[in-house]
Amino acid sequence: MEKAKIKSAAPAAAEDAKKKAGPRRKRLTRSAYTRDEVSEIFRRFSIQRPEPKGELEHVNAYTLLVAVVLSAQATDAGVNKATRPLFAVADTPQKMLDLGEDKVRDFIRTIGLFRNKAKNVIALSKALIEEHDGTVPADRDALTKLPGVGRKTANVVLNMAFGQPTMAVDTHIFRIANRIRLAPGKTVDDVEQNLLRTIPEAYLQHGHHWLILHGRYVCKARKPDCAACVVADLCKSKEKTSDIPAALVPLG
Ligand code: SF4
Repeated sequence: MEKAKIKSAAPAAAEDAKKKAGPRRKRLTRSAYTRDEVSEIFRRFSIQRPEPKGELEHVNAYTLLVAVVLSAQATDAGVNKATRPLFAVADTPQKMLDLGEDKVRDFIRTIGLFRNKAKNVIALSKALIEEHDGTVPADRDALTKLPGVGRKTANVVLNMAFGQPTMAVDTHIFRIANRIRLAPGKTVDDVEQNLLRTIPEAYLQHGHHWLILHGRYVCKARKPDCAACVVADLCKSKEKTSDIPAALVPLG
């Protein structure tokens, strides 16, 4: 009888220990690169673009947040064209509320999903005023509670407005991470976690910009421009067409 009691207590104790340890971490596919190789890749990116910047125009953390919300399924150039006159008249949550949803909609009408986005811009401006004294919170949970703000948007804002080493995985980063097997993953979250553990700390702050720009201008979706690639000798992609790295010079 006593024996039976001991047997049944063991699984319960194991269950308790598991609960204390928290949720089990998902097993991520390892990078195809050694630590030294990853460092070399990012060292070269850092020489090419010492101070990489996002291409969405903004004048403060609030306008950055709005611009990123508007950029879903739209190009940065298209968003900039619409936000330049919009931010000239509304660069704070209160001014945006004063402008009103109809006028915001008129300003952004050239951007895809503009009706829904105008609603979200007004709703998030209201939430910022009511819950954060009109300021943008430097906190992922608070940001993702705002209307229209997902994890990627929050990561961009935390990185660019608050200098946090976050990894905002967009379509370019997702493609490169898998294509060259830098940080493989089936989902955006997997790639984000994999990149965060793969990229050396010294390069994390600018890592997402370097990868976005590399994906946008060199390692392009349809056909990577390997002849223009500074990491062609290191790249382990089956799609690459050159082993000779392009000249490593700072870009204008
Ligand atoms: S060599 Fe080609 S495939 Fe590899 S990272 Fe460069 S552009 Fe992309």
